Amino acid sequence: MKKTKLRTFYHPKMAVNPENITGYANSPAKPRLLMEYLEKKELMEFFLVDDSFPLLTRDDFYIAHTKEMVDNFFDKGKTSKILHINWTPEYAESVKYENASLYHAIRYAVQHPEEVCFSPSCGFHHATPTRSALFCAFSGQVIASMKVYYEFGLCGAYIDLDGHWGNSIDNSRDFVLEIDNAISPVCGNINIFSNHKKYIEELKANLEILGKEIIEGRIHYVVFCHGADSHEWDELASQLSTDEWIECSNLVYTYILKLQEETQKQIPLILSLFGGYRKDDYESVLSLHTTDLVTCLNILCGHSIKYKPSIKPRLT
Ligand SMILES: [Zn+2]
Repeated sequence: MKKTKLRTFYHPKMAVNPENITGYANSPAKPRLLMEYLEKKELMEFFLVDDSFPLLTRDDFYIAHTKEMVDNFFDKGKTSKILHINWTPEYAESVKYENASLYHAIRYAVQHPEEVCFSPSCGFHHATPTRSALFCAFSGQVIASMKVYYEFGLCGAYIDLDGHWGNSIDNSRDFVLEIDNAISPVCGNINIFSNHKKYIEELKANLEILGKEIIEGRIHYVVFCHGADSHEWDELASQLSTDEWIECSNLVYTYILKLQEETQKQIPLILSLFGGYRKDDYESVLSLHTTDLVTCLNILCGHSIKYKPSIKPRLT
């Protein structure tokens, strides 16, 4: 069993004030919106918030991106290919905190594998070495995993169940030296492209491959990103019914538990949020993420929390 609380790397500056969101996506405000939702549902007793993590340096961003791109973003407010998000100093600051949150969550988890670490972050997996893309400013996964590799020599894997292909890692393979040592080239970026039952079968098959890599010592930590836009009522993707979406959470945590029992070792596990849009009812997005977190707490941390998902059908 893991410890009873999710160690949560959250600082209020990770999020843009929801009142300042003008574009399509709530993503820049999502970390705060989720934390407020957990508070409202009286679930905060299960989260141990750590807000003392330091920010990344400019050099850290250069690990995964060209100097030109990074400097343009932070010094000139120039963003390429970011959809509907206006650059503001507040947004730039939130990006710094979001990237630091994921890195410190992974860094802590590999040193304290008995704790599940949670980074309530989302905007990483579409950025490339030269461009931001969609709602993602920088490749936070690549930066975090490279830093963890440089410091500890460890290799990780991402289970990216967002509704869209997380291209950052694969697009960085030629740009970032040694990335294959930091993020497994075998199954370091698990994305599933099918729907419903077939999706679940593919997830199971991928977990088996991941398990083999963990048992044989080639993968040392797992980051699970259960994007809420893989849910069928999200307007930007649609792959899984509510029951199927929750089953994916169940499968991942049950599989980690089984591996831990088999190996008699704690496997470092880190959670992140990724996508989820629902302009008609954003609470459905927050409820899906909360369901995932509660599933983790129940399966891996020994709780029996009764949280009822509240996912409203899309009207359009
Ligand atoms: Zn997505």
